[in-house]
Amino acid sequence: MTNDHVTALTCTLCGARYDPTELRYTCENHEGVAGILEVEYDERVILDRFSADLDGDIPSQWKYAPFLPVDTECDPVTLGEGGTDLLDAPQLSVQLGVSVLVKDDGRNPTGCLKDRASSVGLTHASQSGYDTVTCASTGNAAASLAGYAARGGLDCRIFVPAGAPEGKLVQPQIYGADVLAVDGTYDEAYDLSLAVTDVYGWYNRNAAINPFLIEGKRTVGFELAEQSAVRGQVPDWLAFSMGDGCTIAGAWKGFREFFEFGFVDDVPKMLGVQAEGAAAIHDAFHECESTDEVETLADSISVGCPRNTVKACRALSDSGGTAVTVADSEILDGMRLLGATEGLYAEPAGAAPVAGVKRAVEDGIIAPDETVGIVSTGMGLKDTAGAAQATDGATEIAPSLSAVEALY
Ligand SMILES: [Zn+2]
Repeated sequence: MTNDHVTALTCTLCGARYDPTELRYTCENHEGVAGILEVEYDERVILDRFSADLDGDIPSQWKYAPFLPVDTECDPVTLGEGGTDLLDAPQLSVQLGVSVLVKDDGRNPTGCLKDRASSVGLTHASQSGYDTVTCASTGNAAASLAGYAARGGLDCRIFVPAGAPEGKLVQPQIYGADVLAVDGTYDEAYDLSLAVTDVYGWYNRNAAINPFLIEGKRTVGFELAEQSAVRGQVPDWLAFSMGDGCTIAGAWKGFREFFEFGFVDDVPKMLGVQAEGAAAIHDAFHECESTDEVETLADSISVGCPRNTVKACRALSDSGGTAVTVADSEILDGMRLLGATEGLYAEPAGAAPVAGVKRAVEDGIIAPDETVGIVSTGMGLKDTAGAAQATDGATEIAPSLSAVEALY
């Protein structure tokens, strides 16, 4: 096995160290899931093995294989995830009043950024001898896990809140997974997935607690660092939506690592964007009163009790960034804006950062002469019914030329 670059799993609360070859989700020194673990590496071994040119040519996230917590000599479970373009967005920039770039991670194999984590997770599960994987999800992680389980030849059993968008429940079933729609909230589905992990010994993909999963999300940070270096400019800000908080935490960790290795000469400030109706991380960061009641159309970030609040807030404060909230109406505006200005079709959570940047510019958080990288995490086709709320519907006309002439 050539995973000797992984030296330990360490507790983010008390620093306890665990053997990385034994799958463990949390530290035994704390109640419940409080003691989140982090993968620790021997950086010299990684740098010894990493010889790729950082030239902007990124066929998939496995370009960065030596940085990932798996046996780097074995074939990964992959569908070609990562390597998404960092697009100029001149028309969107005009509309937002600030220069923006867009990284469209909705174009990953199952339609969301989570494919980065699923690929690493399934590779790890497969190498560790598991034959069944599970997770709880508001939808995207379920579809992503199911797709990669199919690819890796593992069974997949997923727990979703029954209220998740229909399209998101269909996708994992097409990938052959058992989809268990829990009559309850995401948080209840989540607790149930943890309980069955204990009882049956399945591999749990929940990115918030599985220390190996968040490591896959670092690759979006690696790519942004590499793409920034090739462009010769690091954006002043990177904007992400926040649900559980582990995407922004993973992205920051990856970008910072590449900065510390000297691959890029600056780091961005992180802008975390939440819906007004699901703002627990925002509220924790700004130390204001919070509720675990959630109400937002952005289902992918509709999380009442985020499991990675600590890691997300650390990413915001370490980078000198901040968190903002946006109303659902602003998210719908953001979807239309992203689509109509640049031809990018994002789901609500994927467009929330557009709304967040607009808000941050209006509030003076982002200065007009700064640059912003917007990361869109999921694609709009996943939830057509939700997206329809951002449209006025088709214009009905008679089948005659004069009907068209009346319009144009
Ligand atoms: Zn601990």
